[in-house]
Amino acid sequence: MKTNFDSLKDLHQYYAVHNTCALKTVATQPVYEIEPPSSGILFIGEAPGRNEDQQGRPFVGAAGKFLDELLHTIDLTRDQVYVTNVVKYRPPNNRDPQEDEKKDCRVWLNSELLFVKPKVIVTLGRHAMERFVPEGKISTDHGQDFTHPTGIPVFAMYHPAAALYNPNLKDTMKEDFKKLKEFLKGLETKTKKNRKKNEAIDEILDM
Ligand code: URA
Repeated sequence: MKTNFDSLKDLHQYYAVHNTCALKTVATQPVYEIEPPSSGILFIGEAPGRNEDQQGRPFVGAAGKFLDELLHTIDLTRDQVYVTNVVKYRPPNNRDPQEDEKKDCRVWLNSELLFVKPKVIVTLGRHAMERFVPEGKISTDHGQDFTHPTGIPVFAMYHPAAALYNPNLKDTMKEDFKKLKEFLKGLETKTKKNRKKNEAIDEILDM
């Protein structure tokens, strides 16, 4: 796996060529963001939808607008965080990404994590959650934090699109974002205690 990149743009351009994800033949383009987050907070969604496929940027459609709204409630803006997806290409008709597609995009995401070195990973929905908290269950574990074996804190959230389909979840997500805010406040101390030396992040490769 190639990991020495000067910028996220270089990284994405490299993996856009060097990946075996079958979706690349049906999607318009890969979807990614190129600015690292000033806050150290990295959100991971599932896979791009139609708007993202057209624009090449993650979370620019209705789910993205709700994500922006949620960020606003905790005094954050999109440009302060980094948003990515488990799968970098839109699955046809927005179906769930398949196991082979998730697997084929895995090194790409690993490489992003190594580049960004997030202070916290916020998973949006079950696909992202299962990648970092395989034993987790979104319906019971949303709004809670976990510690990945690398020491990186992981905070589980519902996917914002879920709240668009089921409006009852909107308030749940707002509450979970409040919990995230509290969690972030306490993070500095916790990070010092739990996180292994920076090099240990290489264990991400085995995640
Ligand atoms: N849903 C996702 O999981 N990712 C996006 O980029 C957009 C919608």
